[in-house]
Amino acid sequence: MAKMLIGGELVDSVSGQTYEVRNPATGAVVDTVPKGNEKDVQQAVGAAETAFKEWSDVTPEDRGVALTNACALIKKNGAEIAQLLTQEQGKTLFEAGLEIHHLVHGLEFYAGLASKVRGSHVPLPQKGAYGMVVRQPIGVCGGIVPWNFPLTLMGTKLGPALAAGNTIIIKPASTTPLATVRAIELIAQATFGEGKAQKTLPKGTVQVVTGPGSTVGEEILKNPHIRRIAFTGSTPVGRHVMEVAGREIKRVTLELGGSDPMIVMDDANLDLAIKMADIGRFFNCGQMCLGVKRLFLQESIAESFVGKLADILKTKTVGNGASKETRMGPIHLESQRKEIEGQVEDAKARGAKVIFGGERAKGGELDKGFFYLPTLLTNVPDDARVSVEETFGPVLPVFTFKTLDEALAKANSSEFGLGSSIWTRNLISANKAIDKLQAGNVWVNSLHYGYDELPFGGVKSSGLGREHGPEALDYYLEPKGVVVVNV
Ligand code: NDP
Repeated sequence: MAKMLIGGELVDSVSGQTYEVRNPATGAVVDTVPKGNEKDVQQAVGAAETAFKEWSDVTPEDRGVALTNACALIKKNGAEIAQLLTQEQGKTLFEAGLEIHHLVHGLEFYAGLASKVRGSHVPLPQKGAYGMVVRQPIGVCGGIVPWNFPLTLMGTKLGPALAAGNTIIIKPASTTPLATVRAIELIAQATFGEGKAQKTLPKGTVQVVTGPGSTVGEEILKNPHIRRIAFTGSTPVGRHVMEVAGREIKRVTLELGGSDPMIVMDDANLDLAIKMADIGRFFNCGQMCLGVKRLFLQESIAESFVGKLADILKTKTVGNGASKETRMGPIHLESQRKEIEGQVEDAKARGAKVIFGGERAKGGELDKGFFYLPTLLTNVPDDARVSVEETFGPVLPVFTFKTLDEALAKANSSEFGLGSSIWTRNLISANKAIDKLQAGNVWVNSLHYGYDELPFGGVKSSGLGREHGPEALDYYLEPKGVVVVNV
């Protein structure tokens, strides 16, 4: 049975309750985990406060060393963690490997930045006086993570939090705690310092509490000793997070849902665009916040583009992510598959044409899991659910346009504003899209991918604040204004 990591110890829940984690490809029980509640969070908060006194005093350089050494431990155990991730989440082993690579790359990025945090010197109008901005860690942070990328989305919180000198409590999604628990157990063993002075992370610097959002999550939001909340998840829960955490005036960042437009002009490198539309929509079985969720094609290229994309989808093997032949795993939850089915049925009822897919992948072992075929829809009306809602699964609605202005207007008509892309060889079109697209991120001739080096986040209902990049550190540091007078 898996355990939680609280105060440096692998423990059961205070209540002794547990729950099962099941494989979405087979329905089999993968493992049992502690069902934590408020009390477990409170214990973790106590340990995190104690650890903060020590960790915030560790030199920034040593904090970087600890993160680097944590990465080495994760890499060494990468194969085991990938197996856990595939079993609990459903993604293919190839995708699980890429996720671990991305986690390590992100943590190494913040390992490097730990010693580069700078404040400033500020001239003041008063003679003989000057100001400074000193940047200090905030304290105990809470990271709430969804099930689609359990490890990378944990790392985007843990990396900058630790680099800046904070401690952090992670709450994984109920259905994907196993790879996270193992990764955090390893991170907690990371060492820093030389020879006899070598130490491991103070106990309680990184912790993981497993259990439901309604108890563990709520306590993280409410507990006044947790001063900073980093949340990734759905927009409705994000609204709730902000309301509850706001009562304690916590610093909050929200990485929420998206409905990214991909706009393809007739002068684009179409072969590349077709390939990236496939990856951008169907990687991770389409369960990506920044996936290509609405494809806009200029009229003259639409028919051939759709035909070639459909040909790729026909060759995609859907199945258990543990098999080497599989190119797309199951949808993570039965409820999520029902949601996707409802969205596709709605589009069909409104006149959309199913070019490929539009139904469950069936037969033999597939009947045990939550499989769904990669689905391509055309003739989709603007008021269909797939046009206005987030589709968190392997469904791509295609729309056509005559002019870039028309495409931009349609792209911006969404309540979301996470990612977006423009595919063109025309610099003027590209620059116009960069300027006008209402989104936190714009990719030009490039896959929708969250680079560690660049700030990542949303506008409108897609969220608040940024993860990734040096910018993420700003959300884990408190600027303190200082005035010094020479007397
Ligand atoms: P949810 O919002 O349902 O859950 C996200 C996390 O919040 C889970 O750990 C969940 O716990 C927890 N939670 C649920 N209720 C509460 C509560 N009352 N208080 C505190 N925590 C709570 O999202 P999903 O897991 O379904 O994830 C999919 C969503 O995440 C999609 O909308 C997707 O777009 C978005 N997402 C956004 C990203 C971004 O960077 N912008 C990246 C990836 C995904 P539990 O599992 O126990 O319910």
